[in-house]
Formats: sequence, C-alpha cells, structure tokens
Amino acid sequence: MPPARPRRLPPTVLALDEIDEGSTRLEFDVEVEQLGLEDTDIVLTAPVSVQLTVGRTMHMYTVRGRLQTSVGGSCCRCLLPAAAALETEIRFLLQRKEASDDELEALADQDDVEIVDPGTKEVDLVERLRDAVVLELPMRLYCKMDCKGLCPQCGQDLNVGDCSCADNVVDPRWEVLAQLKS
Ligand SMILES: [Zn+2]
Ligand SMILES: [Zn+2]
Repeated sequence: MPPARPRRLPPTVLALDEIDEGSTRLEFDVEVEQLGLEDTDIVLTAPVSVQLTVGRTMHMYTVRGRLQTSVGGSCCRCLLPAAAALETEIRFLLQRKEASDDELEALADQDDVEIVDPGTKEVDLVERLRDAVVLELPMRLYCKMDCKGLCPQCGQDLNVGDCSCADNVVDPRWEVLAQLKS
C-alpha cells in the first residue's frame, strides 16, 4: 500500500511541527481571491508574493514576512488607469503553550504576540496577511506624479493640452465693478 500522501495545506498555513529549530525561509504567493478583500476602488492586480522567515525555539516562533504586490485603479486627478507597487511587512511572535485567561486577555489587543494551545498543529496567517495589505492600500493613485488632471469646467485632460477655460474666467475684481455699475 502506498504511503498516505501528506495533506496539501494552503501556503498561508504554518505547519508548526514541520518547521525546524533555527531559522526557516518560506516563500509563496497568495492569490488575491484567497485574501477575501472587500471591494474598493483600488484593487490588487497581482498575487501577493510573501517571503517569510520563521525562527523556531521549541514552541516559540518568531515570524517576519515581506509582502509584495501591485495595485491598480483610476488616477485621482485625470481618471485614467493608474498603478503602483505595494510593499509591506508582518512581524509577530507565536507561542504554543498553556496560557492563563489573564495572559490571553492581556494579549487580546496586542497584535504582535499570539498564543495558541499546546496541541495546535497549524496556524493560518491569511488574516494577518490581509490586514497588512489593507493597512497599506493607498487612498489615491496617480497616473504620474505630476498629473495635471482634468479641467473642472470643461473636463479637458490637461495632460494632453490646455483648454481655453482659463482665458474666459472673469477677474473677480472686474465682476464687482460690473455689479456696481448696474
Ligand atoms: Zn492622472
Ligand atoms: Zn476647460
């Protein structure tokens, strides 16, 4: 009988017993769909490439990771497609041990330390990865740093050429005079 094939885990899952003592490098890509991001105007346009370094001492794991992907959307000034690189990090300490309720409570709002039960075999990092990406999502994209945007009056793309709106704007001081006369 052939030996049972090891179960294939998603790449975001750390199989705690399979990590050697010392330092281990792990590299994997996470598909955008796997992150379960909410719909936003700015979206990820490539899988997230993750490079992890896991340092293990007995039941203590220090996890450091670099995340790289790219984002796309519309330029906030001219509305043409725009893209940018996104790079961020995760870093936390994972301990596999018995913990008191007090201890767990004290760590509840601490993001960089996590305690799991002694019997835990697998820890999924997907939420941490998602949170790190969401925090780093830009609020605005620019097609280029010096995008001139659209004319607010006629909508002409000012990167392509000037419009004549500026010439027709009446100097407000003259407008006051005109009102006084009438
Ligand atoms: Zn633009
Ligand atoms: Zn114009």
